[in-house]
Amino acid sequence: MTALTTTEDYINAQNVALKGVFLTHLHLDHISGMSAINKQVPLYVGQGETQERYFLYAATQGITDIMLEGRPALQEWAEDYIDVFGDGSVFAIHSPGHTAGSTAYLVNSIESPVLFTGDASHTSWGWNHSVEPGSFSTDQIRSRASLNKLIKLVKSYPEISVQPGHQSL
Ligand SMILES: [Zn+2]
Repeated sequence: MTALTTTEDYINAQNVALKGVFLTHLHLDHISGMSAINKQVPLYVGQGETQERYFLYAATQGITDIMLEGRPALQEWAEDYIDVFGDGSVFAIHSPGHTAGSTAYLVNSIESPVLFTGDASHTSWGWNHSVEPGSFSTDQIRSRASLNKLIKLVKSYPEISVQPGHQSL
């Protein structure tokens, strides 16, 4: 695997100071770009995510700790649905199941609204066939309910484009 653009290169190209990182969940493959993030930048995760990581990911705990070491405490979203900036530009949507705090983000970008599912849906096939990540998830029943909720959202607002956690549609 080769990175087309590294996190560091992307951030540097923006010419603005990064003020926060919204994480979908704390699996290693979703935080591996953290070394490119300034250690003072606050990090946000879904409800329950900070508790879950301590007992679930023994195999990757060491490297996860290194990625998060020396950083401000992870901040959890306080509610299931958050209008992050209070202006409808970004919503954090608690989508538990893959992990306890899994969170999808709906971003009203200039081109179109985009739903970043995290691993509530990790592949385009999974999204198109309503199949959640299955055995990769902590709680498959909640994972199924969360995927159904996100699919229903996009059916109600078909202008939303979807970005699954591991693949583009
Ligand atoms: Zn994951």
